[in-house]
Amino acid sequence: MVRIRGLHKSFDGHVVLERVSLDLQPGELLSVIGPSGCGKSTLLRCLNLLEVPDGGHIRIAGHAIDRSGVRWSRQDERLAHRLRAHVGMVFQGFNLFAHRTVLENVILAPMVARRTPRREAADAAMALLDKVGLAAVAHRYPATLSGGQQQRAAIARALAMAPSVMLYDEPTSALDPELAEEVLGVMRQLDEEGMTQIVVTHEMRFARAASDRIVFMDGGRIVEDAPPDQLFTAPADPRTRQFLRNVL
Ligand code: ATP
Ligand code: MG
Repeated sequence: MVRIRGLHKSFDGHVVLERVSLDLQPGELLSVIGPSGCGKSTLLRCLNLLEVPDGGHIRIAGHAIDRSGVRWSRQDERLAHRLRAHVGMVFQGFNLFAHRTVLENVILAPMVARRTPRREAADAAMALLDKVGLAAVAHRYPATLSGGQQQRAAIARALAMAPSVMLYDEPTSALDPELAEEVLGVMRQLDEEGMTQIVVTHEMRFARAASDRIVFMDGGRIVEDAPPDQLFTAPADPRTRQFLRNVL
């Protein structure tokens, strides 16, 4: 479902991602952990081409981007546009449109990008809001919701485009534990339904309990890629051991 080869990204000569390669099977839930500044957010942003990688190859749901250091072309932009349509992204800070109701937030992208008729988009959106437990607040404005509700609305909004992969960048780090649990619950449910998901997280308990695999990054590289029990009980690399000692 996701295939990354030799992904490279620098900012002003400073290497942030160095030859990152990663594969995800359909339905896998992958957690990405690692110290601040190691490149986790940049990896996610490169995956949906919010950042243009300097080198490497990305294939998501059959849509590929090849970067070999040449200029970013119109053709690349078209390919990126197609690829992005298959990727749902949820950020730490909710990012809902404040002047639109929850329902309007969810129907906007399908109506604009897919030209889905309002009625049809609204029916689909209500089903998604029901799934994430927000049907009752569909007509409220984001500011009147709890952080956990806002984040679940952000997930519903991303799901409205029927993505092949969901990417989450610390989706719960702005939330109290109880509200975080609501959001993690939705991700678990999506996992059971077979959604392919990548989550950058500091929630080690969730990573351990819910992930199929965990990737530990340090200094722009993938240091270790292992099933959760193996990574937590018998990390192979000293840097992973050191990181886990600090965070557990
Ligand atoms: P955190 O856990 O703190 O969120 P992270 O692992 O997500 O960290 P990134 O945000 O990917 O780390 O940043 C990796 C490095 O790239 C950092 O040194 C950061 O300062 C740098 N960086 C990220 N985005 C940019 C940018 N747009 N311009 C310049 N440098 C950037
Ligand atoms: Mg980050």
